[in-house]
Amino acid sequence: MIRIQEILDKVVAYRPDADVEGIRKAYVFAAAMHAGQTRLSGEPYLSHPLAVADALADLHLDDTSIIAGFLHDTVEDTRTTIEHVREEFGEEVADVVDGVTKISLISFDSKEEQQAESIRKMILATSEDIRVLLVKLADRLHNMRTLQFQKSEKQKSIAQETMDIYAPLANRLGLHRIKLELEDLSFRYIRPDVYAQIDKWIEEHRAADAAYIAEVIASLREMIAAASIRARVKGRIKHYYSIYRKMQSKHLPLDDMYDIIAFRIVVQEIKDCYNVLGLAHSAWKPVPGRFKDYISVPKANMYQSLHTTVAGPRGERMELQIRTEEMDYMAENGLAAHWLYKEGGKIKAKDVQQLSWLREMLDWQREENDSLEFLRTLRVDLFTDEIYVFTPQGDVKELPEGATPVDFAYQVHSKVGDNCSGAKVNSRLVPLNTRLKSGDYVEIITDSARHPNRDWLKFVKTAKARSRIQHYLRTEERGRAVSLGRDILEKQGRRYNLNFQKAIKEVNLTQLYAEFRVKTLEDLYAAVGYSQAQARTVLRAMKEQLGLPSDEGGALSAPPPPVSQDAAPSAAGGAAFSKSEEERRAESIKISGGSGILRRFAKCCNPVPGDHIIGYISRGRGITIHTADCPAILAAEPERLISVNWDGSTEHPFPTRIHISSRNVKGVLHEVSGILLKEDINIGSGNIRSSLDGRSEIDLLVEVRDTVQLYQVMAKLRALPAVYEVIRSVPQEGAA
Ligand code: MN
Repeated sequence: MIRIQEILDKVVAYRPDADVEGIRKAYVFAAAMHAGQTRLSGEPYLSHPLAVADALADLHLDDTSIIAGFLHDTVEDTRTTIEHVREEFGEEVADVVDGVTKISLISFDSKEEQQAESIRKMILATSEDIRVLLVKLADRLHNMRTLQFQKSEKQKSIAQETMDIYAPLANRLGLHRIKLELEDLSFRYIRPDVYAQIDKWIEEHRAADAAYIAEVIASLREMIAAASIRARVKGRIKHYYSIYRKMQSKHLPLDDMYDIIAFRIVVQEIKDCYNVLGLAHSAWKPVPGRFKDYISVPKANMYQSLHTTVAGPRGERMELQIRTEEMDYMAENGLAAHWLYKEGGKIKAKDVQQLSWLREMLDWQREENDSLEFLRTLRVDLFTDEIYVFTPQGDVKELPEGATPVDFAYQVHSKVGDNCSGAKVNSRLVPLNTRLKSGDYVEIITDSARHPNRDWLKFVKTAKARSRIQHYLRTEERGRAVSLGRDILEKQGRRYNLNFQKAIKEVNLTQLYAEFRVKTLEDLYAAVGYSQAQARTVLRAMKEQLGLPSDEGGALSAPPPPVSQDAAPSAAGGAAFSKSEEERRAESIKISGGSGILRRFAKCCNPVPGDHIIGYISRGRGITIHTADCPAILAAEPERLISVNWDGSTEHPFPTRIHISSRNVKGVLHEVSGILLKEDINIGSGNIRSSLDGRSEIDLLVEVRDTVQLYQVMAKLRALPAVYEVIRSVPQEGAA
């Protein structure tokens, strides 16, 4: 067990004016509260807050953090209340302890959706003061170091949670040492087999590796000394989890892993970094594409260093990191201390530029209701490597790997993103979904007439871009629904002998809104526009209020819809698909701004995935999906059309109709059904007519995955000798 005096000595060494009495008081308080409690290891419980406070002192944190470290479990695990802590230690300490307690109560359940919700809560709890997260990380670090005492069924889930959430967060906060330790500790419990294999291999090669490390260090020291540069040189075997990741990404067995050893050269001045780099590159051949200059372009978490890989003395690859003492300290654990020094007191996410990603996640989580979508984007933001690209002015922008010009545009300004119409990368015009690379110069072409496109959502990577595009689309779609709804109410009102605009001023709006569960007139229009409420029901309610006769059955009955949902070529007979299948198919359609809207597939044109489609807002019957070239759609009122998309998620077959003309020979039907059978295509129903001129006309309702499968099988049918023509049945003009 660490002693309090060791911690105090450590703190005073970097903070001579530290509140020694306050820290001692927190220690005494924790000792009293946890008295008699033991850890699963059998040690007194107090060993845990001591270890946490010690880890915080290693990070050179302030008094509040250290005190909160001692107290972090008192509210959750003892009879102490947060009010008691507030009285004894003040507002700031109590707020941090409260935040840590809240995070501890969140369960990061393995179910994705709940996990997303939990992470949202945690981000909220920490964004007001990052010290909450720092104390929580120190807490988790000690719990991971003592995980062997935990029940075996809990070990794995705690380790997974650490790997999924805490290690990436530590990385984002620039706590490199803690991130690596958390990863290795988690890895040991998540993949004990691979961990043991790496451990054994390293054990067997230890002597050889030690000799190799000594040899390289000696050469490095010699060449650096000859150039009169002062430097510390270290060599070490990489962390187990890093080795594992390399095995995975390069698909290499352990025996082929050469660069598992990394060397670090720590110098006094920046110019020495580049001098040492030059020396290393002239002694050993650099591996192309592996040099990274994080000194002139620091990472988002302020990490600075030169990285290079060279072919070492035995021709083996070895990695070199070259940095100054200051950079080395910051890289290991200094970033949090740096903020505290600069900001003093509370570190709010919104005040620290390096925490802009956290800020963006917060903005986004306020807008985004879909927690799975949130989790997906959070993962991209937390886990992927960053790339650094340049504005035409030479400013650096940080983006996740795989980011596109649209992400870049939104990074520059929301307005630039919203009006982005094209992009130049390194002076060449590129498509907007181009993946950017580090070092690219990106220029965005804007046009105030251009607006975000639903397709952008398929390729953007950042939370910011995604949130802005969705915001735009939602607003736009709602605007359309509002004006459509108003229009429908006015037109229907005329048929119904009601001047809608006049009547709406006379009715009791509160009562009307309550009846249709809306808050404003715009909401009411939107509800009608989205077909969540029926226009005639609204009109009837208004008439009732005004004491007008309701004309039930007369003008009240809806006029026949201009597009019939049920029109089908009579020859083909009725469809025979169950309702639940129809519903499941309907879920594969995305409607902007319209989750929960009833939708169905038109039976006139029978769209299948791959077809260009369009939605028709029917009166009171939700949205009917037609192919974009369906005659019924071409005849429809344009303001009732809404853009819809396949989301590509369904495995379900879709029914559609094909028409085959053939010579009237025996066996044609047999051949046709043979081909369909071979392609695993179901026949829903069929109809054959023979005409006097010796032709057969065959109408079939078939179930296909998508247009690709459909057109392939149509080509095969066309190849049959007796077949004249195969077409997709087009709804007859006037059939509707
Ligand atoms: Mn704890």
